[in-house]
Amino acid sequence: MINIVIFGPPGAGKGTQSEKILEKYSLVHISTGDLFRANIKGETELGLKAKSFMDKGELVPDSVTIDMLRAKVNENPHANGFIFDGFPRTTPQAQALDALLDSLNTSISVCLSLQVPDEELVVRLINRGKTSGRADDADEGVIRNRLAVYMRETAPLKDFYKQQNKLEEIHGVGTIDEIFGRLCTAIDKHA
Ligand code: AMP
Repeated sequence: MINIVIFGPPGAGKGTQSEKILEKYSLVHISTGDLFRANIKGETELGLKAKSFMDKGELVPDSVTIDMLRAKVNENPHANGFIFDGFPRTTPQAQALDALLDSLNTSISVCLSLQVPDEELVVRLINRGKTSGRADDADEGVIRNRLAVYMRETAPLKDFYKQQNKLEEIHGVGTIDEIFGRLCTAIDKHA
């Protein structure tokens, strides 16, 4: 199994690159942001819980997020591997993911960390907001809060994966194909 964490601030290109990676390596894509948005659209109880946090650019509480992730992994017992996009975002989430994969006799192969300068991220997110229909892309204050939350809660996880020799830092500026090439080189080192 190849299990990949695609990591980076909002707007770094995690979703775009995940689509290309899952096709090449035949992986199941789990995006916690997409799962929350589907729940909001379906007006589920989970969606209702998540919405107030997402609209402000805050993280949804760990317990809710971890339970949702676990259920999604367990729905795919025959997967070739997973690409985790937007998860983990906190240390308890990273620990829960390791424990879950361990219980399935597997583990994270590599954490791909996309590096993009902050000002480029803001421009990308404002542009995405013109077409994405996402409330959290439509307001520069919410965008900046998401970047601040990333720096505070999520960026420290790089050390978690570095200590396990699984961190690959990838320059996230360039064409989609250039960045994809860099990501594949990094994956193949750990596959
Ligand atoms: P994303 O689509 O990954 O940018 O996520 C959009 C929003 O969903 C985030 O700003 C959070 O409010 C919420 N979210 C997504 N993934 C997580 C996670 N792993 N932990 C907590 N909140 C999350």
